[in-house]
Amino acid sequence: MRQSQLYTKTRKEAPADEIAKNAQLLIRAGFINKEMAGAYAYLPLGLRVLNKIMDVIRDEMNTIGGQEITLPALQEPEVWEKTNRWSEEVVDVWFKTELKSGAKVGLGFTHEEPFTRMMKQFIRSYKDLPVYAYQFQTKFRNETRAKSGIMRTREFIMKDLYSFCRTKEDQEKYYEVVKEAYVKIFNRLGIGEKTYVTFASGGVFSKYSHEFQTICDAGEDEIYIHDGKRIAINKEVMLPEVLADLGVKQEDLRVEKASEVGNIFNLGTRFSEALELSYQDEEGISQPVWMGSYGIGPARVMGVIVELLSDAKGLVWPAEVAPFSVHLISLSKDKDSQAAKTAEELYTKLTDAHVEVLFDDREESAGAKFADSDLIGIPMRVVVSDKSLQAGGVEIKERTSDTSEIVTVEQLLKSFAQNCD
Ligand code: ATP
Ligand code: MG
Repeated sequence: MRQSQLYTKTRKEAPADEIAKNAQLLIRAGFINKEMAGAYAYLPLGLRVLNKIMDVIRDEMNTIGGQEITLPALQEPEVWEKTNRWSEEVVDVWFKTELKSGAKVGLGFTHEEPFTRMMKQFIRSYKDLPVYAYQFQTKFRNETRAKSGIMRTREFIMKDLYSFCRTKEDQEKYYEVVKEAYVKIFNRLGIGEKTYVTFASGGVFSKYSHEFQTICDAGEDEIYIHDGKRIAINKEVMLPEVLADLGVKQEDLRVEKASEVGNIFNLGTRFSEALELSYQDEEGISQPVWMGSYGIGPARVMGVIVELLSDAKGLVWPAEVAPFSVHLISLSKDKDSQAAKTAEELYTKLTDAHVEVLFDDREESAGAKFADSDLIGIPMRVVVSDKSLQAGGVEIKERTSDTSEIVTVEQLLKSFAQNCD
């Protein structure tokens, strides 16, 4: 993409009312726009990052047998009344509205109920199980606080996976499969080292659920970490009984602020019994389906990446989620110069080789271009100028490095060809 065509612009200052570092930087770099408190627009660069995060999650969900679908945000009360989750005393985050007829509807804050009800159409016999289905879908939650930028918004995309199994054992086995997939996802997204499998309260059917908590100053949770076992305990379940269960001593734990990037639950038969989702076993006897649900917030992950990796100059993206792989910068303002021609050729060749390039072909000063490049945070910067050509080629620099080097155009192209192999 040519930067001269990109309609967003960088800015020096973040809006005064934006207190979260992630939103400040993302707004300054032109990745997002604040529409109102707790609601952001994703602009071309920001949407590329969000989509890449979702692609990694999608890839790992497909690997463990997930089938992608999408359900509506609009929800009718009946199905939620059956599980006692329509009432505002029980669920205080509902956005509710009504149809022209006066009938009430809500905007889904999660989707256990409609998923369970839908599966009644398709699950009849033991032969139909297991089923794993997931979606990337917009949730609405009337959150009290919305001061963490894109890490807590009132409208956000969630990846929610639901499992439907024959037995408790099958369900518990799949739960472990998802737990491993989540570890892979957060590793690929560049936050694995700071992310801990955290014991949290489980509900009626299992003692614990597991949260994936990433150590982060901007996080709203507190977790107690055991370095030896590489696990953590959520503050809400820091009880003597839990410590005993996990075989850890209080003095071996350190407390950290953290942000919950994912959460997995064994739901047992809570939803299937309330909504009558059952199957006939080999003997023809009706049995309730065993379920689990598994969420990740891609935008919260994006916010956490910004909080953890950015530096004084701006954003820093891990390779797998960066909006582009290469920021190509032409410093020549004369379109007929050798430098300008070389930059154009390089842009064409890299694009032909399927390298994602943001090409800064604008008529700006070198200083402005470098500052923008640091702010936007693409992993590799390639500068073409009269000076670089005299030195023998183009100047390459990694976003996280202070030093640059000159390589020939051929060497640069070859390094990407090798990456493709
Ligand atoms: P929290 O305790 O932070 O409010 P939660 O436990 O209510 O989160 P879940 O219902 O477990 O959230 O949702 C699954 C995932 O969706 C979370 O792990 C998080 O990554 C993401 N998420 C939840 N609420 C929000 C929000 N308001 N904005 C952005 N992402 C969110
Ligand atoms: Mg949660």
